Amino acid sequence: MGANCDVLVVGGGPAGAAAAIRAAAAGLSVVVCDKASFPRDKTCGDGLTTTALRLLERLGLDPAAVDGWERVDEVVLRSPSGRIVELPLPTDGLYAAVAPRSTLDAALLDVAARRGAEIRQGAALQSLHTNGAGVEATLESGGATLTARYVVAADGMYSTVRRLTGVDGPHLGEWHAFRQYFTGVADRRLWVFFEPDLLPGYAWIFPVSGGRANVGFGLPRRPGESVRPMAGQWRDLLERPSLRAVLGAASPEGHHRAWPIPADLGRAPLSAGRVLFTGDAAGATDPMTGEGIAQALVTGILAVESIADGGSDPAAVGRRYDAAVRHHLARDLRFAAVLGRILASSRGARGAVHAAGLSPWTRRHFVRWMFEDYPRALLFTPSRWHRGAFTGPGAYRSA
Ligand SMILES: Cc1cc2nc3c(=O)[nH]c(=O)nc-3n(C[C@H](O)[C@H](O)[C@H](O)COP(=O)(O)OP(=O)(O)OC[C@H]3O[C@@H](n4cnc5c(N)ncnc54)[C@H](O)[C@@H]3O)c2cc1C
Repeated sequence: MGANCDVLVVGGGPAGAAAAIRAAAAGLSVVVCDKASFPRDKTCGDGLTTTALRLLERLGLDPAAVDGWERVDEVVLRSPSGRIVELPLPTDGLYAAVAPRSTLDAALLDVAARRGAEIRQGAALQSLHTNGAGVEATLESGGATLTARYVVAADGMYSTVRRLTGVDGPHLGEWHAFRQYFTGVADRRLWVFFEPDLLPGYAWIFPVSGGRANVGFGLPRRPGESVRPMAGQWRDLLERPSLRAVLGAASPEGHHRAWPIPADLGRAPLSAGRVLFTGDAAGATDPMTGEGIAQALVTGILAVESIADGGSDPAAVGRRYDAAVRHHLARDLRFAAVLGRILASSRGARGAVHAAGLSPWTRRHFVRWMFEDYPRALLFTPSRWHRGAFTGPGAYRSA
């Protein structure tokens, strides 16, 4: 079955769904293909920052449509010294939440379908050829071909589009992380553990509704470094008194899962002719925390806005997208990489947690900054200052 569209989005995760919703809103015809059938799991901590929540609200996602969605009102940090700092989140809206990716991604893709995007599931991209006027793609499901003016690559860490366009070689990811769900967790706060041997990585216990929790840990990894020792670290971590005190008698569900996180925006080009790379396929995650949902949503939206505004010249669209990502994201991710180096030492992490807990003012502001209430480097980029930039309300105030 052949079809023509303005935009083919490869991948239906947060980056792809955001691109599809934005494309439909701009009056572009859009097809999303994903190799999986939804709902599908994505190995993740499921944590949503304030930026992610504001974007999800803008895109039209209703939290009530997401099974397992849990509002977070308090964050607890555990310093390498064992010191505990409790950080209440503001109450004028939602500043943090946890939403299982199986239900979150399906609900967001539903929004895209309702707005007019055509969704093809169980349809892996197989081949991609560019001709003068567009891109021809073949999908696995029955060898369907599609012709699109532009392709948004939102196909994650092991992007097939990157491989097919030949802009990147094999890539292992700058972080690697483990995750497992637990049932029967009484403590409903969001915990972050800066264990001395994990720095600048960390462990987490994030509450999911129904008394469940998403438990995991992530570590930056050096080029070529094996992740095998992480399996032993994971078993050891789950027995530590620091985590056990929060997990109590909770029991694990199924097996743990592990997945890499690419945190290297700028390593490879953001576009290649009529193809624009977004989310994990662009390496657009925070190099200090490994978070990437907000960044996936931002890049998905910016890619389509660049297509809508850039006209028919792919080079102009690519330049526009590059500039937009530089303005909205690149400086924040560079700044986060610098801060990540401070957290690499026990002393640095202890100092950061201590500073966060100094006073009610530091507690309030640190937690807002930590949860991307405003861009990480906003303070140092006056070109992005505007009224309310540091004090905006949370998301979903009317919910
Ligand atoms: C353990 C772990 C914990 C994390 N915790 C957090 C967290 O708490 N908060 C946070 O913000 N971020 C977190 N992240 C990062 C976050 O999961 C990613 O950055 C985010 O999922 C990127 O979204 P995406 O849309 O770019 O890609 P993905 O969510 O990976 O979606 C890519 C989609 O492309 C599809 N696809 C792949 N290949 C093809 C193909 N050939 N054809 C068609 N479709 C294809 C896949 O099926 C998938 O649906 C975590 C990551 C890990 C590994």
